[in-house]
Amino acid sequence: VLSSFEAAQPLPAAFQQLGSTTQSARRLFEIVDTKSEVQNPRQSAPLPQHYDVEFRGVTFSYNAEQPPILRDLSFTVPEGSCVAIVGPSGAGKSTISRLLLRFWEYHQGSILLDNQELNSYSQEDIHRLISVVAQDTHLFNTSIYENLRIANHDADREAIIEAARQTQIHDFIMSLPQGYETQIGEQGLLLSGGERQRIAIARALLKDAPLLILDEPTANLDSLTEREILHTLRTAMEGRTTILITHRLVDLDMANQILVLRDGKIAERGRERDLMQSEGLYWQMWNLQHKVLV
Ligand code: ATP
Repeated sequence: VLSSFEAAQPLPAAFQQLGSTTQSARRLFEIVDTKSEVQNPRQSAPLPQHYDVEFRGVTFSYNAEQPPILRDLSFTVPEGSCVAIVGPSGAGKSTISRLLLRFWEYHQGSILLDNQELNSYSQEDIHRLISVVAQDTHLFNTSIYENLRIANHDADREAIIEAARQTQIHDFIMSLPQGYETQIGEQGLLLSGGERQRIAIARALLKDAPLLILDEPTANLDSLTEREILHTLRTAMEGRTTILITHRLVDLDMANQILVLRDGKIAERGRERDLMQSEGLYWQMWNLQHKVLV
């Protein structure tokens, strides 16, 4: 049975052209250029009962010739809490989410989910447990309705519309002559970056998984929409273990812990108010972004 990584349920025939699970997962995560080296364990560990995540001394590079992208990285995300990962472009933030999604194998250190090595779970199980809002959303060549429903085939029309409302995309959909039945092309040409992103967030709400990875979830949104979406995300994060990757230092008081990543290492960590008070790297980044003269 094929299943997409954003979807919890088997896919309808229309999506079966996608090929293997891994392929569709990678397409959804827009990592089409790299070959997955991940192997499923011979016998998968039973599903976790708790959803706490720990990186313990993880050093990682994409290939042997490359210097490590992550260096001796350690942090824990207790179940139901939110860690925000910030830092300059290329620091390794998205690499953390790719490792968590088991797109790449780690060889040094441990990544633990419910105190079990991540690589003792199958990739399919991991994908069922995680909702992802990635930087670029894969859309399928079908209706907007089906593009939302792919996240959860048990969702009824009411739930789908509610998710679209919560992500501020319902009115736009209704303004189209065919509404939810509007067909969107493979590349989603009809939709702007911000609209695609809101579809992705609506999918995450519909999927209702215990772990949430948000990789620049508001990157393509204007600041008013960003505020509203952040409000929705805050609600969605309640009770879920969340990894929020962002370069936008907005509303980060919602994070129980912020990691400031630089060159694959944690340069600073703490709650927002503490990082602001200590006037270090986070504070500098915040001031630069908010254009305050220091
Ligand atoms: P941004 O904020 O720009 O998204 P980031 O902090 O998320 O950056 P990553 O995407 O994790 O950074 O990338 C970290 C480093 O790993 C970069 O130097 C990047 O070029 C490199 N990298 C990413 N993917 C691959 C890959 N598939 N093969 C080799 N190197 C890669």
